[in-house]
Amino acid sequence: MTNDQRKRESSPGLVPPSLGLQPGSSGLWGLLFPKMYVPSVVHIDPDELRAMGIRCVLFDLDNTVVPRDKIDLQPEVAGWIRSLREKGIKACVVSNNGPDRIRRISGMEDIPSVCRAVKPLKNPFRKAMRMLGVAPEETAVVGDQIFTDILGGNRLGLYTILVSPMPGKEYWATELINRRLERLVLKRMKGKLNRGGQP
Ligand SMILES: [Mg+2]
Repeated sequence: MTNDQRKRESSPGLVPPSLGLQPGSSGLWGLLFPKMYVPSVVHIDPDELRAMGIRCVLFDLDNTVVPRDKIDLQPEVAGWIRSLREKGIKACVVSNNGPDRIRRISGMEDIPSVCRAVKPLKNPFRKAMRMLGVAPEETAVVGDQIFTDILGGNRLGLYTILVSPMPGKEYWATELINRRLERLVLKRMKGKLNRGGQP
């Protein structure tokens, strides 16, 4: 486990499940803050999502539902995806990785996907919502990276959920650039929460 992952793992406990921060509410920072921050996908309650009017979850692949160097879903993660669908919530993978990687992961065979997504561009999220026939206000984005998953989702006004990255190998640029910048955002987010949500 890297230092970043250790730091991120210890962070969600400091943050209430629902941050109550509106995307765009404080300029660029608002675009980078998730609406919810949890240790892993299994902490996201499908019933809570449904109660908020969420009918579709677009989730990231690597280090969100499966470690980047593994090809098997953990049983509890597979169970979470199953429970989404049992509750009538549509699911779709939106990944910057290629189709070969998605095909190799067992347990994902019948889940639609948008690959080579180039997040945080808006188009892959729009494409996924079009495929599933859902509107932005009923769509959540789940991912482990602020500068791809959260920024991309917030740009479209989707309900963004940040998870701590699963332990495992990171893409070199993620490790070198994104995780360092994420630390700044998380620090700022924590400060804002300590001030009762005020900028
Ligand atoms: Mg990821």
